[in-house]
Amino acid sequence: MQTPAFEAWPQIGESLAHYVRRRRETLCLSQRELALKAAIHPQSVGKIERGQTTRLNLRTKKTLALALEIPAEHLEAAERGRPLPAGGIVQFCPQCWEPGSEADVLWLDPRAHYCYMCGTPLCDRCPNCQESVASLKFRFCPYCGTGYKAPV
Ligand SMILES: [Zn+2]
Ligand SMILES: [Zn+2]
Repeated sequence: MQTPAFEAWPQIGESLAHYVRRRRETLCLSQRELALKAAIHPQSVGKIERGQTTRLNLRTKKTLALALEIPAEHLEAAERGRPLPAGGIVQFCPQCWEPGSEADVLWLDPRAHYCYMCGTPLCDRCPNCQESVASLKFRFCPYCGTGYKAPV
């Protein structure tokens, strides 16, 4: 089974509207073509992309996911909005994380222990003082000033 490309996942903080539009544009479909493919009304696609529809019914979710070539779970995650890490834990790959960016959704999965891109064990605390990372908005540990990203 092929894992969908990372770009096919809803990103942290991405709205359903933005996600659907991004997938549609990736597939080079017009709103009309997507509507046809998903067997829904073109106006419904417009409403979703304008953020007027934030909850999809089951049938729409299924056909729209198929048309966008993503699992229906991705649409569900986007519907819920910003996927929050379980228990507020921020896990990240000290190799792949770019300071100033949000953690990748795949790292935040509580079942994930290793980076899906490079295999490095994920890290959820300061490498120096072991204080847990509250937010990746900070590039450095607020307690001891150590940079969160592993030195290259
Ligand atoms: Zn990595
Ligand atoms: Zn520290």
